[in-house]
Amino acid sequence: MSRVYNFSAGPAVLPEEVLKEAADEMLDYKGSGMSVMEMSHRSKVYDEIIKDAEKDLRDLMNIPDNYKVLFLQGGASQQFAAVPMNLMKNKKAGYIITGQWAKKAFQEAKLYGETVELASSADQTFSYIPDCSSLDIADDLDYVYICENNTIYGTKYQTLPDTKGKLLVSDVSSCFLSEPVDVTKYGVIYGGVQKNIGPAGVVIVIVREDLISDDVLPGTPTMLKWKTQADNDSLYNTPPCYGIYICGKVFKWLKKMGGLDAMKKHNEEKAKILYDYLDESSLFKGTVRKEDRSLMNVPFVTGNEELDAKFVKEATAAGFVNLKGHRTVGGMRASIYNAMPKEGVEKLVEFMKKFEEENK
Ligand SMILES: *Cc1c(COP(=O)(O)O)cnc(C)c1O
Repeated sequence: MSRVYNFSAGPAVLPEEVLKEAADEMLDYKGSGMSVMEMSHRSKVYDEIIKDAEKDLRDLMNIPDNYKVLFLQGGASQQFAAVPMNLMKNKKAGYIITGQWAKKAFQEAKLYGETVELASSADQTFSYIPDCSSLDIADDLDYVYICENNTIYGTKYQTLPDTKGKLLVSDVSSCFLSEPVDVTKYGVIYGGVQKNIGPAGVVIVIVREDLISDDVLPGTPTMLKWKTQADNDSLYNTPPCYGIYICGKVFKWLKKMGGLDAMKKHNEEKAKILYDYLDESSLFKGTVRKEDRSLMNVPFVTGNEELDAKFVKEATAAGFVNLKGHRTVGGMRASIYNAMPKEGVEKLVEFMKKFEEENK
């Protein structure tokens, strides 16, 4: 067996320990005589898996009791619709456009009400986070929406926008559990798990209880109503059972690693190795304004498309895979999520230095 260093933006690298454990339990989960894939979601043994997962996530993020945790399907993209359906009482919401995911959410919300662009960084290819300290927020906005870490462009909010008391809704797909967060600052935090937590097919929605009600937009499908899911502890219908089981294992792994404070430190150390090199390199350059750099997704370019392609090709051959940048940005992107070991980043930088030497 040989594992590569996988810099994919998602689905992405998972802790090897978790994968091994899952492999060990594949045929017989804890004496049940079956795989987690084969068991009823209503069984006692599965009930323990999903309850444990929720409890561990609550511990990790310090989620207050007045927030519900939902394990759902449909990916982050489905929440682009669920958010307005559940929250647009006045049919008006504000969006901050910091990249494609925010834009997609913005466009989806337009199907349900009036959407206001509060700020945008489209003018410079989303290479920065706009100043959100004094936004023009109308009184009748139902919520303010952000994409907190921009997976494609590699930016992250270092401070949350001043929403002037309005609800904050945040898509944290690509920074989920990468560092501690103060859940009380948000009305809703949600994310697909395939970037930093588990296998594709699960989206976790953390929503304040008072925002969960039957008062949703007319025509909201039963499945997209958070109340349906909350009332049934995410078991209204068959949940993505196996995916939730793997997420649960990752939560336990994170706890063992020291929780989110330790993760933040680990992620800062890793990102620093790469950013420091990008800052001193005469070949590679980061594409993001320094203050807004993400700890998770690091885009960079040589400034020469042919050289970029050569780099990606040689890196792949050397075992550093999925470094090609998003088609809208070009160049390269190294996604260095929680499960990417420090050694992976160190070796990548070594490889980049060698490439720089050879391509002067
Ligand atoms: C990947 C991603 C999405 C889309 O997730 P799906 O689960 O594929 O719908 C949305 N938002 C962000 C920030 C992402 O990184």
